[in-house]
Amino acid sequence: MSSDIYCPTCGEPLDPDELHEIEGLTYREASAAFRSAGCTAIGLMHGEGAPVHADAARVVYDLLGDDLDAAAAELSSWVQYHGQSMKHKEALP
Ligand SMILES: [Zn+2]
Repeated sequence: MSSDIYCPTCGEPLDPDELHEIEGLTYREASAAFRSAGCTAIGLMHGEGAPVHADAARVVYDLLGDDLDAAAAELSSWVQYHGQSMKHKEALP
């Protein structure tokens, strides 16, 4: 089972496996691009994700650097706790 990561701009979830299939980028490059700019960095449109997920993603990527597996695990437990109920509230402390 793989955990989603989230766009740091729009909060849209992404299966990290998709980073293997970005044309012209290695997995590592695609991962770095996604962590800094999100969807558009890998040729996708920003979606209508939850802004709170974008906030969480930025914090987690800052903390964990290029360890995307750890980031995915961290985000998946975070989303499980806070889920959709926090959609309109402030993000992480
Ligand atoms: Zn996005």
